[in-house]
Amino acid sequence: MRRALLSGLSLAIASLLHSPGTWAQNGAQVLHCGHMLDVVKGEVVGERYIEVSGNTITKISRQAPAGDHLLVDLSQQYCLPGLMDMHVHLDSEISPQAYLDRFRLGVADFAYQAADNADKTLMAGFTSVRNLGDNGNVTIALRNAITRGLTAGPRVYTAGKALATTGGHGDPTNGFSPVLRGDPGPKDGVINSPADARKAVRQRYKEGADVIKITATGGVLSLAKNGQNAQFTHDELSAVVDTARDYGMRVAAHAHGTEGILRAVQAGVASIEHGTYMTPEIMDLMKEKGTFYVPTLAAGRFVAEKAKDENFFPPVIRPKAAAIGPVIDNTFAKAWDYGVKVAYGTDSGVSAHGDNGKEFAFMVENGMPAIEAIRSATLMAAELLGEEERLGSLEADKLADIIAVQENPLNNIRTLEAVAFVMKDGQIFKQ
Ligand SMILES: [Zn+2]
Repeated sequence: MRRALLSGLSLAIASLLHSPGTWAQNGAQVLHCGHMLDVVKGEVVGERYIEVSGNTITKISRQAPAGDHLLVDLSQQYCLPGLMDMHVHLDSEISPQAYLDRFRLGVADFAYQAADNADKTLMAGFTSVRNLGDNGNVTIALRNAITRGLTAGPRVYTAGKALATTGGHGDPTNGFSPVLRGDPGPKDGVINSPADARKAVRQRYKEGADVIKITATGGVLSLAKNGQNAQFTHDELSAVVDTARDYGMRVAAHAHGTEGILRAVQAGVASIEHGTYMTPEIMDLMKEKGTFYVPTLAAGRFVAEKAKDENFFPPVIRPKAAAIGPVIDNTFAKAWDYGVKVAYGTDSGVSAHGDNGKEFAFMVENGMPAIEAIRSATLMAAELLGEEERLGSLEADKLADIIAVQENPLNNIRTLEAVAFVMKDGQIFKQ
């Protein structure tokens, strides 16, 4: 048995980042975990040896396996599945200047930002993300670059550009001068009929999107007055969901106001994002239909805090941020209590990239047990993606996405804000 103390081999790890296809992918590896969080059982089990071959977990045992392999010493740590964030925007991060970036930056600039934020996200222990809306489809290119090993980042499931209606949250020309406004259509993600909706979904398919994102109501951060109103009609929503289904894509709906949330759930979207003014009647319907709730507490807190600063947001946005931000925590507490399925999502890009792990503590503060918060970012997220066969738990035949932390996360959830070890697809990115 070869034994390597990886903490002394930071150079080797740095080179792994830049040259995939080294020993990490070829030889067998064994992770010696002092403790392992079994998210299926919901408990920390004792010492485990996780055998990895290529990008797959082949076996988990109590005894050290025989044979030639590289042993990774995590004997002082707690191993758990790679974390999954179901709502990020890797290509940007909100700031007082961000509204001008659309005029100052090109797609290459957004792409470099996306690569940098992807690296931060992976180092935070998030090995899979859903990117719900970007500029110029740069996260489709990013996903492909990560898959090819050209740059380091989580496994990306991306919507490309989000779909909106004219003047709605996500219309890319909101707030522009009439000279610059033009009349964006389905290709730019703006639809105004069921026919437009079908074309926009097919366009995303053609461009390589994995999921469809719609903005079913107004939003906090768009340069428009209303943050809550319904912005898609029933027939537009049905056209989006039915067409997406034809191409094997699920639909994520940004929604704050009650009517827009209700319409999106009725149409059969897979997840409601934010869900600020969700009612008990809607929660019942979501349970019946299996609709996920992705709360994004981090984003609600971030915009509520920044609304206190006179200079952070443009004047049209500040009152929306002050009104909507603080409500999301209460809605989450009620929805969890009610039994709605919850998947983990931060809306990073509103809050800071790399801080994805902070959402756990926010969920626990609102009454969710630590194990359920962790399940929302593992088992539940995998189910929302339709990837439960490959991701979400540490089991033989699943992908080797494994992280380790210093403390028992069931006792101290905030240990997930400082992830010590990251393996994705059998490759070590952080030790
Ligand atoms: Zn978002």
